[in-house]
Amino acid sequence: MGTDTAQYDLVVRGSRVATTAGIGAHEVGIRDGRIEAIEPLGAGLQGGEVVELTGDQVMIPGLVDTHVHVNEPGRTEWEGFESATKAAAAGGVTTLVDMPLNSIPPTVDREALRIKRAAAEPKAHIDVGFWGGAVPGNKGALRGLHDDGVFGFKCFLLHSGVDEFPALTADEMGEDMAELAGFDSLMIVHAEDACSIDRAPEPTGADYRGFLASRPRGAENKAIADVIDRARATGARAHVLHLSSSDALPAIAAARAEGVRLTVETCPHYLTLLAEEIPDGGTAFKCCPPIREAGNRELLWQGLLDGTIDCIVSDHSPSTVDLKDVENGDFGVAWGGVASLQLGLLLIWTEARSRGIALERVLDWMSAKPADLVGMTTKGRIAPGADADFAIFEPEAEQVIDVHRLHHKNPITPYDGRTVSGSVTGTWLRGRKVDFAAPHGRLLRRGEA
Ligand SMILES: [Zn+2]
Repeated sequence: MGTDTAQYDLVVRGSRVATTAGIGAHEVGIRDGRIEAIEPLGAGLQGGEVVELTGDQVMIPGLVDTHVHVNEPGRTEWEGFESATKAAAAGGVTTLVDMPLNSIPPTVDREALRIKRAAAEPKAHIDVGFWGGAVPGNKGALRGLHDDGVFGFKCFLLHSGVDEFPALTADEMGEDMAELAGFDSLMIVHAEDACSIDRAPEPTGADYRGFLASRPRGAENKAIADVIDRARATGARAHVLHLSSSDALPAIAAARAEGVRLTVETCPHYLTLLAEEIPDGGTAFKCCPPIREAGNRELLWQGLLDGTIDCIVSDHSPSTVDLKDVENGDFGVAWGGVASLQLGLLLIWTEARSRGIALERVLDWMSAKPADLVGMTTKGRIAPGADADFAIFEPEAEQVIDVHRLHHKNPITPYDGRTVSGSVTGTWLRGRKVDFAAPHGRLLRRGEA
């Protein structure tokens, strides 16, 4: 593992380097875009370029965000690969996996994936992978998409918000999961039950409580029970997206204990925001499933700490300011999605720090664990053999979020004006600093990262 005569392309030295063994004083030797050596500080690794961390700085693994709606092609005015990958890089994210819907065409067959890759290729400032979509009638296309490198398949159990990406019934989801089990792919599920939502009151007007009542916990709990049931029956791997209802945690924990192949993510908005504090007409906060009450948020943090929840990813789902209906503030018509791609680490670190949770824990939830979810063994960790994807983070810094200074295409986020801890001061992808001018991200295929 490197000797003191080795010549690296890049050496990073500092008293706080976040390796898989924890934060310690190290020198990291990087060659050909990979981490080759991790030695104690003082080892004297020689590099063509050397980055010396100050005492305020931590070298952290590049984050992996497996839940991003880039929306290109087709709805590029909502985000797009250029602004999304710049925002991600500015937030310390070096790998994202793009969701199959809201782009047109949705990623439900090989041709659609080809079109999406062509759109992404010249614009990717970080590495980008893709999810496929499972919709009614495309079971025959799943294997082809898998062979072309998608990391798994997303389905909805209720209306997705866009007509070109229809929902599956629980039975159809089960049939597709049986298909996916044949090549050990992963079904990722937007778990809210359509019938439960139909029975709930209609969301209209500016009152957040009305919107919350329209997306009850019971709808999530029911859909998650269906996911568990079908995963158990088919033996397929299943993943619950954006868990909001803490009521479902005991069922999830029990299923995992029983051996059901189930993983779970949650998102910064469920961990940092509170229904009780959302202002009337605050449609920037509208997302599905919704942000719930304080007690619910406490249990989600407990679920992370006890390991029931695997990872934290953004579910960055922006739209134009117009579609968020800011003028009227009507929760019934506003687009449901929260923009946070650039902010995830700052938000979670701020909240974690106030709870006495170590930075190492946060990094594990936001880098190694999501990388594991999609089988990326060379991403999300500072370890010998891993890609040299990292960021420099100043955890004790403070800043106020200004939506107009973010790389997000549309200046709307519920976090505008919020004071947060931490600052990302530089991001490197495979040993090269992201310069926000010349993109050098790669498109990733399953099994190749
Ligand atoms: Zn989403």
